[in-house]
Amino acid sequence: MLSNRLKSDGKPTYVLNALQQKMKLEVEQKIADEVYQFETVDCVVCGDSEATKIAEKDRYGLFFPVVSCKSCGLVRTNPRMNQASYNEFYNTEYRKLYVGQESPTGDFFKLQMQKGKLIYDYLEEKGAFHKAKKDMFVLEVGCGAGGILHFFREKGCTVKGIDLGEEYINYGKEEYDLDLEVGFLSDLNLDRKPDLVIYSHIVEHILEPDAEFIALNKAINRDTIVYVEVPGIKHLYPNYDMNLLRYLQNAHTFHFSLTTLQNLMEKCGYEMLAGTEYIRSIFRPTDQKNDQFKNDYNAVITYLEKMEKKKDYFALTPFSLKKRLESIVVPVLDFLRIKKLIKSLLGK
Ligand SMILES: [Zn+2]
Repeated sequence: MLSNRLKSDGKPTYVLNALQQKMKLEVEQKIADEVYQFETVDCVVCGDSEATKIAEKDRYGLFFPVVSCKSCGLVRTNPRMNQASYNEFYNTEYRKLYVGQESPTGDFFKLQMQKGKLIYDYLEEKGAFHKAKKDMFVLEVGCGAGGILHFFREKGCTVKGIDLGEEYINYGKEEYDLDLEVGFLSDLNLDRKPDLVIYSHIVEHILEPDAEFIALNKAINRDTIVYVEVPGIKHLYPNYDMNLLRYLQNAHTFHFSLTTLQNLMEKCGYEMLAGTEYIRSIFRPTDQKNDQFKNDYNAVITYLEKMEKKKDYFALTPFSLKKRLESIVVPVLDFLRIKKLIKSLLGK
């Protein structure tokens, strides 16, 4: 264990709202009653079972054992809830616990659209669009309400999305007339192969990501681009205030660094075209299968130990100081703008 504060003691890291507290209790009760069951799994990249324990709880204070594989460095949740337990969790508690709201909202959709712009800009910057936008067919796996796809459609692409959350799918279909479907990748019957496949904050939720990407490999063209975005475990600064507990959440079965994600993708027959530790990454299928993996264990553990030591000084970092300054300056500027507007209206 990296430190005593990461032990399972039920204490949350965030202030939870009433709905989140209710959902947390519900999950804890289901674990106690063995409605939610756990299974032990070996490393999905190298197959080894030997690992070092990093933490025992997540940001909500839920029991959440996380280990790092000694042979390749991939961080995984182990033991983890089995598929049947996760299916029920996603249907009942997940969104309410994560978003803190009962149902999808316009704000959530707007946030997804903003994410869509960031993904689009990244792909553009890396030269990943190999066709005119009007000829691009974009598939998103785990699309939620479809805000990311909406942005790509506005840019001229044809889009299609799948997700397991029926309520979110219906929201995107009804409010934005998006082509969305409830289901897994294996349920899809496409009459056209996608030019771009997006996995945004979904791979870290999948129990068998190797099976997912091997199946995808067979369903796409050789020049299809696969965009994968996951929360990077070597990017706790600035995104998670250097605090591992802000990063960990019980829905995540894997916690990738760019190297461990690359290992997984290479094992499944892809090559990496671009990537950052954030993690944003672009892959393409390749016929040269690579079973050799790089061991990122030392780099991951060293990074996490460094963050654990430095986290109390986060408030003194340039990022934190800038944010606090903005929180003072922006409202003042907004107030002055409103004042000016009222003055000009009265002047008329
Ligand atoms: Zn491994």
